[in-house]
Amino acid sequence: MQCLVCENLSLRLICQQCLDSLPLRPTSRVLECGLSVHSFFGLSDVAPLIYSKYHIFGSRILARLARHCAQYFFAKVSIPTHTIAIGLDDLPRKHYAHTAIIVREFCKVSNATLIPSYGTLIATNPISYAGKSLEFRQNNPRHFLYKPKFHKQNTTGDAGTIIFDDIITSGSTLTQAYQCLCAHGVRPLFAITLADARL
Ligand SMILES: [Zn+2]
Repeated sequence: MQCLVCENLSLRLICQQCLDSLPLRPTSRVLECGLSVHSFFGLSDVAPLIYSKYHIFGSRILARLARHCAQYFFAKVSIPTHTIAIGLDDLPRKHYAHTAIIVREFCKVSNATLIPSYGTLIATNPISYAGKSLEFRQNNPRHFLYKPKFHKQNTTGDAGTIIFDDIITSGSTLTQAYQCLCAHGVRPLFAITLADARL
């Protein structure tokens, strides 16, 4: 097959050379609610890869990008064992569940310190925020529903939690997710997104 970026022959959808040449631009933001969000790519550098342009292969491209970010992350950061990974709204919509793929790759690379908790934080208002204003986002909350998979998460609060999303734009989705978790006694350590839309 061909590499989707350079179009040279490649065994992978993005060849190693192209993957390595994607600029990593690690950034951290602290949202007004207090949640820290760590990102790896500038959205402008990876938008065609992250968006659905190649939707047939989309899940495999996303997995490759997520794995790349996870390798970078775990080379620098160690997290407590049994940290729980929650992907925001990880139900398959259209073709696949973006955040479930990201969570799966981070958990694989984490050497079992990170435990996936799928289907835990689901938006009951599955409205798309793509291209919408901050005002629209604030007027149309996602109404997250929290369905804990690990009861410990709720009762003792001893397991740390990291929340995952593909892109941070205004931070309003992550803020709503954070508030939902806090309302159930779960205070996430921080959030991870692959790309920051400000870059
Ligand atoms: Zn290539």
